[in-house]
Amino acid sequence: MLDAKIPSGPLAEKWDKHRFELKLVNPANKRKYTIIVVGTGLAGGSAAASLAELGYYVNNFCIQDSPRRAHSIAAQGGINAAKNYQNDGDSIRRLFYDTIKGGDFRSREANVYRLAQVSNNIIDHCVAQGIPFAREYGGLLANRSFGGAQVSRTFYARGQTGQQLLLGAYSSLMRQVAAGRVSMFPRRELLDIVVVNGQARGIVVRNLVTGEIESHGADAVVLCTGGYANVFYLSTNAMASNVSATYRAYKKGAFFANPCYTQIHPTCIPVHGTYQSKLTLMSESLRNDGRVWVPKTPGDQRPPDQIPESERDYYLEEKYPSFGNLVPRDVASRNAKAQCDMGKGVGETGFAVYLDFADAIQRDSQEVIRQKYGNLFQMYEKITASNPYETPMMIYPASHYVMGGLWVDYNLMSTLDGLFVLGEANFSDHGANRLGASALMQGLADGYFVIPYTIGGYLAGTDRPEITTDHPAFKEATRYVTERTQKLLSINGNRTVDDFHRELGHILWEYCGMSRNDEGLLKARTLIQELREEFWKNAVVPGLSEDFNQSLERAGRVADFLEFAELMVMDAFERKESCGGHFNEAYQTEEQEAMRDDENFCHVAAWEYKGDDNDPELHKEPLVFENVELTQRSYK
Ligand SMILES: Cc1cc2nc3c(=O)[nH]c(=O)nc-3n(C[C@H](O)[C@H](O)[C@H](O)COP(=O)(O)OP(=O)(O)OC[C@H]3O[C@@H](n4cnc5c(N)ncnc54)[C@H](O)[C@@H]3O)c2cc1C
Repeated sequence: MLDAKIPSGPLAEKWDKHRFELKLVNPANKRKYTIIVVGTGLAGGSAAASLAELGYYVNNFCIQDSPRRAHSIAAQGGINAAKNYQNDGDSIRRLFYDTIKGGDFRSREANVYRLAQVSNNIIDHCVAQGIPFAREYGGLLANRSFGGAQVSRTFYARGQTGQQLLLGAYSSLMRQVAAGRVSMFPRRELLDIVVVNGQARGIVVRNLVTGEIESHGADAVVLCTGGYANVFYLSTNAMASNVSATYRAYKKGAFFANPCYTQIHPTCIPVHGTYQSKLTLMSESLRNDGRVWVPKTPGDQRPPDQIPESERDYYLEEKYPSFGNLVPRDVASRNAKAQCDMGKGVGETGFAVYLDFADAIQRDSQEVIRQKYGNLFQMYEKITASNPYETPMMIYPASHYVMGGLWVDYNLMSTLDGLFVLGEANFSDHGANRLGASALMQGLADGYFVIPYTIGGYLAGTDRPEITTDHPAFKEATRYVTERTQKLLSINGNRTVDDFHRELGHILWEYCGMSRNDEGLLKARTLIQELREEFWKNAVVPGLSEDFNQSLERAGRVADFLEFAELMVMDAFERKESCGGHFNEAYQTEEQEAMRDDENFCHVAAWEYKGDDNDPELHKEPLVFENVELTQRSYK
């Protein structure tokens, strides 16, 4: 059933061949098509701008008051590309290989190769837009290293790369708004997908200012609604990041792939209190110069400057001499947890390790370090009141990114005809673990360079009946959305939505976080079901629907998280192996590394919704590796 539509032919020629074979829409006809793009982050902003530039009419939606506030703006460290400006051995093939290996051999070869190919176009495109990437003294673009690679291929704009890239996409988008080819719909939340004759033909949204439920029709729908890491409650994601858009699409026929593949990022400011609602990332780029360590003796409470060199455990450098502090995120996170579990953690809670810049400052000077990471150091000091130029940072893993998402084929189309999914919202090219600086690359690859071709092939090759929003399918979706809204408002219980969300986060962190086991996963499933049942009896959702009502918005998102979390846990339970971000304790090597089972689990797990009262059905897309050899991932 799952046809990934991977083109035939040699790996390096697949994309070219496919682009040639795809049907084209002639320029005059493009004007006749309307495309809905939901999301204005790097994936949505770039897609909406590019499609409008081609001549399509685009309706673009987002939750925030401005497209510029999409969560992509938070991205700090950089974006990968295989330019090989450093002359250090990089190539498209190496970026491809690093990504496949980093993802623990659980991604599609053809997609990853295309990603590596277009990575270079992205940099050229963004430079032409005026993105102020960091430069070397001689004027060439500068690079730094990120985890899971032994070359420097990460392009950056200090610690604000996402913001600068988003401003580029936003400029292109606004040009199209001014030209009349993009209509912006800010402050709208997608609450349902409208399906007519098996094709995605529109969406139903709630106007978050007036509360009005609106219907919008189109020839195709493109979801770019980001990731669901907030299911863990505490995460580095923006507060509005949600699973609702993709989960509603799942309920309308789009399969959800690998929901249990989530990424826990090793370098975040540690949790400091019960009522904290947000965690802050300290970019992976800091591991270029910062050295990770803990005291050698468990329970050592001395301040870091009183612990002599001989009593420090630089455990990543020791254990992984080839990659050292730049091992991939899953490996760094698990090792930090292991050190803390042994009682070697630091700080008040014992759930932190040091990230120390003393050697780098002595070697390169404080000024050089400030130039590279100034805004990150400032942010750290503002939050913790500790000066990282003088005292090592304290860091701990936190939920950060999701590799799971809606299943898409090579054209980025989901199992629901006419529904395309881009950026973090799709199940992505990253397999079981994403390498740093590769999410921005994927979002922009999807939006600037893939969808402009593949959507044309779909529109030119498919028949669609003429419809308006008077069609019964729109009425039905509106009725469903209105009833659900009223149901939330009428619960009238005693417990806040945040409190439910916090408890859900604890369950997932405990049983489906950095490591999992079957017993814990089964327990988590029961706990989630019980919590969900209580939510619908005892949550308190104040206010009205015909109004600006953020309690209602949050309640809707948490209700979806409560359903989706069960799918995550089921997916984790089904996968009887460890791979990347999915670490089942029963499957590990003698050195406590993830142990895959390529014979039985070399597949994408794609879940099909079968109704609220039934378990979803699992479908498998086998992953075929013709160009790389499957090996035990080693960073030693
Ligand atoms: C703190 C932080 C730092 C990061 N740094 C890096 C980095 O240095 N390099 C890197 O490669 N990656 C980084 N990442 C990951 C990267 O930023 C994200 O994966 C990427 O930006 C996601 O882009 P996107 O366009 O898919 O989604 P987003 O940017 O999340 O955009 C989602 C859009 O969808 C809209 N939306 C969502 N739900 C709905 C709905 N229901 N209805 C209507 N609209 C909706 C939102 O309004 C928004 O416009 C970082 C992530 C975090 C959290």
